[in-house]
Amino acid sequence: MTILIKDIKLNGKETTIQIDNNIISKINPKNPDKSDRILNGKGKAVIPSLLNNHTHAAMSLLRGYADDFPLQKWLSEYIWPMEKKLKAKDVYWGARLACLEMVKTGTTCFNDMYFFPQETARAAIDAGIRAVVSEVFFDPLETGEKLSNSLKKSIKELKKMDELITPAIGPHAIYTLSNESLAWLAEFSKKEGLLMHFHLSETKKEVDECIEKNGKRPVELLDELGFFSKHSINAHCVWLDEKEIKILAKRKSRAVYCPTSNQKLSVGKAMPFKKLSHAGVIVSLGTDGNASNNSLDLFEEMKSAVLLQKFSSNNPMEMTAIDAFKLCTLNAAESIGLNAGLIEEGKLADLCIVDLKNVKIVPGHDLVSDLVYSADGSCIETVICNGKIVMLNRKVEGEEEIIEKARKQAFDLVQR
Ligand SMILES: [Zn+2]
Repeated sequence: MTILIKDIKLNGKETTIQIDNNIISKINPKNPDKSDRILNGKGKAVIPSLLNNHTHAAMSLLRGYADDFPLQKWLSEYIWPMEKKLKAKDVYWGARLACLEMVKTGTTCFNDMYFFPQETARAAIDAGIRAVVSEVFFDPLETGEKLSNSLKKSIKELKKMDELITPAIGPHAIYTLSNESLAWLAEFSKKEGLLMHFHLSETKKEVDECIEKNGKRPVELLDELGFFSKHSINAHCVWLDEKEIKILAKRKSRAVYCPTSNQKLSVGKAMPFKKLSHAGVIVSLGTDGNASNNSLDLFEEMKSAVLLQKFSSNNPMEMTAIDAFKLCTLNAAESIGLNAGLIEEGKLADLCIVDLKNVKIVPGHDLVSDLVYSADGSCIETVICNGKIVMLNRKVEGEEEIIEKARKQAFDLVQR
């Protein structure tokens, strides 16, 4: 399948983009090959589609269900009791709803941690977008050969499902897993060459409790357990000191900034973005789940990301629009080892067409500024993932049915 996008703006200049199968094969070709499909790009711009590096897609069913509580109370009294009742069907329809929202706001890849990861994978495949899926682990966890064999089996099955799916390992957090379980899961993920998705130092409470129990801060403790590598993707990373930042950089571990979730759950501080970046840690962006955000629109998240950094540092240069845009394109792709996040020949054909006539981004002095500070997902007109059109002129196939079924499933879950 060949797609030609004609007369579209790329970095301010009109060009033609040729997509062959799942790759951006030519930019501005003199003699474009015969194409199966031509898209008219006049009055539009092309950007890489966005990547959401920390979410729990199926939590979309709980959007607006329990807002305005502190993290521990929110988890233990509202979210965990609901998650105990979860069925595979809830996860599928919750994730379908999330995928629909992501596609409609220009996101074509998400890094997920949740129960029934095969259902999240199925939802992503049905939506035509990429997902890194990890089963979430809490204690009590019986580590050993039995767990190793069952994990190997489920990872093999996930890998077989579709090239859009990347299996990973998802230890929940330091306060829900013993040191032994954390060390075992890290060792397993290293041996199997899998990404490991984790919640790290989100609140001060979690850091204080770790010091009290182990006599050291979380990153120091985890490093002694052999936890960090370039495969470890750590969401939040709010309460880090200088020494911990150095350890993460040394181990080439990744950090994911979740500004809206952090503000909503009042974690008390902003991630030390500049210090992490200067130390060489790749930072990307995540929305967290819809129960703690309550949106998966990465355009809103970019604005939140920049504003929180500027406000908390009292420095308008602390994070720029370009920094924010990279967080959910190039940096995010690099974090998970995906050949995407840029419009360049040879990159995966994961891209968005932006409607430059959308009132939110007129007159159009600077596209990146407009995308970060004034756009929202409604400025995205068409979305392509892996060389296939997943949204055309803001229409997604089957969206009415997805909305209907997800709503029904959400009320079924909370009334169960
Ligand atoms: Zn999370």
